[in-house]
Amino acid sequence: MSTRSVIRFADWKMSPEAAAEAPKMVHELQCTTCCATSAPHEDFEIARDWAFQHVGRNPSHQGYRETVTRFWRMTLTS
Ligand SMILES: [Zn+2]
Repeated sequence: MSTRSVIRFADWKMSPEAAAEAPKMVHELQCTTCCATSAPHEDFEIARDWAFQHVGRNPSHQGYRETVTRFWRMTLTS
């Protein structure tokens, strides 16, 4: 790593994305039995509803993995 890149690292700050169009989080659930996935959605309850429908149709599919996506913004501190 060069000296310049170390200095640049010190000059940056990482914060949650504040842009109005960026969701705070996006939730997605995946069935661990068949790998089917919900649509990604800002509202966890939408993904959860998908899991209830999925297990209703496939009673042996009882394991789910959630992926949460968060958005970050880098800003110069100086
Ligand atoms: Zn499944």
